[in-house]
Amino acid sequence: MVFLNGPRLLDWANSPPHLQFNRYVLTGYRPVSSVQDCVRSLFYLHNELGNIYTHGIPLLCFLVLLPFNIPWSQISVTWLGVVHFLACLSPQLGSVLYHLFMNHEGGAPVYHTLLALDMCGICMINTLGALPIVYITLLCYPSLRSVALLAYVVLSGYAIYCAVSARDNVRRLRSFAWQALFRLVFFLLRWAGVGGGSPTSLRHFLTMDTVALLGGLINISRVPERFRPGLFDYWCNSHQIMHVLVVGSILCLHWGVIDDLVWINSYRCPAD
Ligand SMILES: [Zn+2]
Repeated sequence: MVFLNGPRLLDWANSPPHLQFNRYVLTGYRPVSSVQDCVRSLFYLHNELGNIYTHGIPLLCFLVLLPFNIPWSQISVTWLGVVHFLACLSPQLGSVLYHLFMNHEGGAPVYHTLLALDMCGICMINTLGALPIVYITLLCYPSLRSVALLAYVVLSGYAIYCAVSARDNVRRLRSFAWQALFRLVFFLLRWAGVGGGSPTSLRHFLTMDTVALLGGLINISRVPERFRPGLFDYWCNSHQIMHVLVVGSILCLHWGVIDDLVWINSYRCPAD
């Protein structure tokens, strides 16, 4: 990945204060840079390179491959497929922009705007990604379905406010707890046989939330770098592990939603 000679990288103590968020990553900080120099940093090794590519490569793959992987001809509710596609792209898009430009010469204000963008990406997958789950669980209850979709969107608006205004990673992770609990209610409805959905999708959705939670916990616990500060500066630190788990979680969401969207065609509500 190293094609260019980069600038002299900084250690933790000499990096800008707003970039000193992980005291176990000791070296490899890019200096304050222009937009062009941030883009140029795609081609030399520094401590954000792994974060950029662990979401950048999946972003390109999803952008190109997902439209072909969604069985549009078998989907009767097209907007659910579109919403699902946008949901799968959103966290990586916000993340790549955040990690690529976080050392921009605009300083802390630009950094916090980018962090908010990153949080918005996560909120978007939590929100848009769950709408097909809510819709299909309540497929046979149209009125209740509309209320639940609206309630989830309102709740998500509150979650995004909490995530954007959170001052640390623990509060950020906690912002998404209410959305996760809301989804859990729908998973319980499916498990109890009251809610609709493909028999195979619930397993994917439970794996999705478990993997995402694991990623969030690894990120806030700073494992493994807290045990050997400096050893994981460039590769395999907690944030990169979280990125990989987030991609795994999105794949689980994708498989579950596709199963569900195809299932709608074969299902008739009892009252029909
Ligand atoms: Zn990230």
